[in-house]
Amino acid sequence: MEIKVFNNLTRQKEIFKPIDPNLVKFYSCGPTTYNFLHVGNARAAVVADLFHRCLKSFGYNVKFVRNFTDVDDKILETAKTRGIHPKEHADEFIKECLKDYECLGMLPATVTPTVSESMPEIISMIEDLIKNGYGYVVNGEVYYNVPKFKDYGKLSKVVLESLQHGIRVDVDGQKMHPSDFVLWKPAKPEEGWSWDSPWGKGRPGWHIECSAMAKKHLGKTIDLHHGGVDLLFPHHENEIAQSEAANGCPFCHNWAHNEFLNFGSEKMSKSLGNVVTIRKFTESFSGAILRHILLSVHYRSKLDWTDDSITKAIGEIERIHDCALLVGSAIAKTCDDKFEVENVKKSFIQMQEEIANDFNVPAAMGIFFQVIKEFNRLVKGEISNEYINEVKKCFHFMRDATGLIHDNAQEVLGELNTARKHLSGTSSDNDQEVLALLDERKSARATKNFSRSDEIRSRLNELGVIVKDNPDGTATWSYK
Ligand code: AMP
Ligand code: ZN
Repeated sequence: MEIKVFNNLTRQKEIFKPIDPNLVKFYSCGPTTYNFLHVGNARAAVVADLFHRCLKSFGYNVKFVRNFTDVDDKILETAKTRGIHPKEHADEFIKECLKDYECLGMLPATVTPTVSESMPEIISMIEDLIKNGYGYVVNGEVYYNVPKFKDYGKLSKVVLESLQHGIRVDVDGQKMHPSDFVLWKPAKPEEGWSWDSPWGKGRPGWHIECSAMAKKHLGKTIDLHHGGVDLLFPHHENEIAQSEAANGCPFCHNWAHNEFLNFGSEKMSKSLGNVVTIRKFTESFSGAILRHILLSVHYRSKLDWTDDSITKAIGEIERIHDCALLVGSAIAKTCDDKFEVENVKKSFIQMQEEIANDFNVPAAMGIFFQVIKEFNRLVKGEISNEYINEVKKCFHFMRDATGLIHDNAQEVLGELNTARKHLSGTSSDNDQEVLALLDERKSARATKNFSRSDEIRSRLNELGVIVKDNPDGTATWSYK
């Protein structure tokens, strides 16, 4: 099946054709590791993981490179306040970040390079830029000559003249043009971390790292590049300018950007101080819930962070995993359900088509929930082995492509109970009893022991828990 991806270079959906049909070369801009990541960063990370998973689901081998920015002003500043070496500080948060990624159910990237380990390649690319006439040196500082690169603006569509107009002239008067950007800057003694270079001791500017790391691990031209929409300009525009001027060939065929996760009407960001960290969220709720929320809207749409999105995610995860348990334990009978089998087969293809249509998870999920609804209805009567297998195929496809279905269904369902409690802000001494009663009630209803199930409902009511039975046989609950 052909995959269509929205390409920001052309502003349209295009059929995805990797240069080497057997290997997709994919780069995603990773985080700056100076602190715990927030759920906005998690959106970018999970979207990159979604692309990785979907491409693999459609049979591609993928070389997926996601960097860690471990050399940065904020890292140097925070390390100085802590009185430790910047590398120690950055490495500590790389480890924390990898723990968060695992909790979010992300597949490992093929390579996760850091800036500090890529210095020879960064320096060599700056040398190429100087040699090719695109880089110039002033007092130990190296700049990129933006007007010299004729294609500048092809991704972001910024017009260089309008960019130059109104920008204050560089205070030091070092740059040739206001839009020129730094490739290498001299070290300040108090920063505590620098590298030797042909231009003296210093460190790289921000943009050059991704150009150099992409080339080192994927080659001069790559298939897919991703990042948050805030990176489109200037970071990605500058990556193109650097890579194409240094390598003399196109850098990347397809540019994909995820929209922001917003808190209220503003982007969630550390500088605005309106952040919820992944760690804090997943301690009270779970990685599965966060992943579900992050993929609940299409990656190119804005996502508003609200308590309602948590409640909705909990309900949906429960429906999926209650059904997964039923599918796993369903007993096949000899019966004629050809019509139903054909319907599931159609749904399976439609789900694949939606995912292949610019990774449209919400649309694929909509179809998947119809499959679940129909299964919950039919399982009360007789179903064939073929029907069960077709439903299993749908579960497996959605599991592999989106990571939203988990093999450890019982565990995931257990986490939802804790999450509900946190959501209602209730701290009850009767937690253990509530959870045990809910489990027992589920079994009682499964064996059609309705009098016991009603007794349990009354006891739960005394403990402050309301249970609602859904028409499809599942139940949802909350604290009063
Ligand atoms: P940073 O560490 O700020 O470079 O961010 C790492 C990644 O997270 C980049 O791809 C950013 O574009 C992305 N990002 C940061 N904040 C948000 C947000 N509120 N919503 C979505 N993506 C974000
Ligand atoms: Zn980057």
